[in-house]
Amino acid sequence: MSQSHADLMRRVAETDSTFVLKDGLWTGRCLICGGPLCFDERTGDGATIEHILPRSLGGTNDLRNLGIAHVRCNNEKGRHWDPRRQHHARQDRYAALLQRLLADRERRWREGPVDRERVV
Ligand SMILES: [Zn+2]
Repeated sequence: MSQSHADLMRRVAETDSTFVLKDGLWTGRCLICGGPLCFDERTGDGATIEHILPRSLGGTNDLRNLGIAHVRCNNEKGRHWDPRRQHHARQDRYAALLQRLLADRERRWREGPVDRERVV
């Protein structure tokens, strides 16, 4: 995994209030399923960046469009919800999922640097 990818994951974790950093490991909650996950601060190994609005639909690397997700959840979202591969009837559900994820990201939003001393 590239260094810039790991840097981006760190910035997403820093702005997600469910994440804490301890011993070089970020621990928090998957944006998609809400389950616990952790990843290596240095390499990003263990989780993946989720583009809430996919790049194929014009989504950007803006931090508010990004979340940390399990690799399997991210794959699942892409496989089941990619509108290019789905019947039109599914697209309302897909749009609803995107709205939920954007709202969750907003709800978890954290400003400013993480207080690393706070992490016990
Ligand atoms: Zn997950």
